[in-house]
Amino acid sequence: MRLCPAPANTGVLFRRTDLEGFIIEAQSRNVARVSYATSLMKKGVLISTTEHLLSALAGLNVDNALVEIDNLELPILDGSARPFVELITKAGIRPQRARRGFIRILKPVEVVDGVKRLAVYPADVFRVTYLIAFPHPLIGEQSYEFAAGSSHYATEIAPARTFGFLEELEMLRKNGLIRGGSLENAVVLNGKGVLNPEGLRFPDEFCRHKLLDLIGDFSLLGHPLIGHVVAERAGHAMHAQLVSRLLREKHSWKLVTAPEATAKLVSEPAPAFATN
Ligand SMILES: [Zn+2]
Repeated sequence: MRLCPAPANTGVLFRRTDLEGFIIEAQSRNVARVSYATSLMKKGVLISTTEHLLSALAGLNVDNALVEIDNLELPILDGSARPFVELITKAGIRPQRARRGFIRILKPVEVVDGVKRLAVYPADVFRVTYLIAFPHPLIGEQSYEFAAGSSHYATEIAPARTFGFLEELEMLRKNGLIRGGSLENAVVLNGKGVLNPEGLRFPDEFCRHKLLDLIGDFSLLGHPLIGHVVAERAGHAMHAQLVSRLLREKHSWKLVTAPEATAKLVSEPAPAFATN
């Protein structure tokens, strides 16, 4: 895989170099499968496991990039977005002249499925509150909040690795659904604890990883979001569902350009008292 610069207003494009350079846009309309990872498909051509790279790009505010790849699956690396963040940071990011477009939420939009819930509300910055609950002694209930401007994606979110349960991994491998899946590229849990000898990178690494996935999946909106996302026990399928609902419900948001968005982002709250 190779990341290349792209002109302003390109978005993120995947280019299958093994298939005569076939292009698949990182856009919600190309989402194909969302069970254990987010895969994109266009005219039968697949790109799988896109969310960690997309998360790294979005987390570093990279709007335009061409991703050349000679395979249908993105490298899983250590199961986090940290290696991508390190490479992108090393290569450098160049500001472009075009105004950035943002999707600014005007009305709440929600998807609910039993105890799972994912919603987005109007807010002045991009903010995510994620809550997970797994009946496992090491996980239980965890929540994490990320806010653009005050949180630091590269150190708080990017290092969080994907995780799975041993029995589930064995089942997936047996059914040919994953080819990788080892202690080098995931946190693996059995009934009692973590099998990885190095342990966890954060006590709430699981929840942080869900947030990492959400940031990647939401980049399929095609524009960065200004709004507060609240996720309870969600996952790729629900992330994709909310993204496509948002794009359909055009009355619930407005496309704003950078100066307008920035003006809102830095606007001071009304003074609490008057001085004279
Ligand atoms: Zn993930």
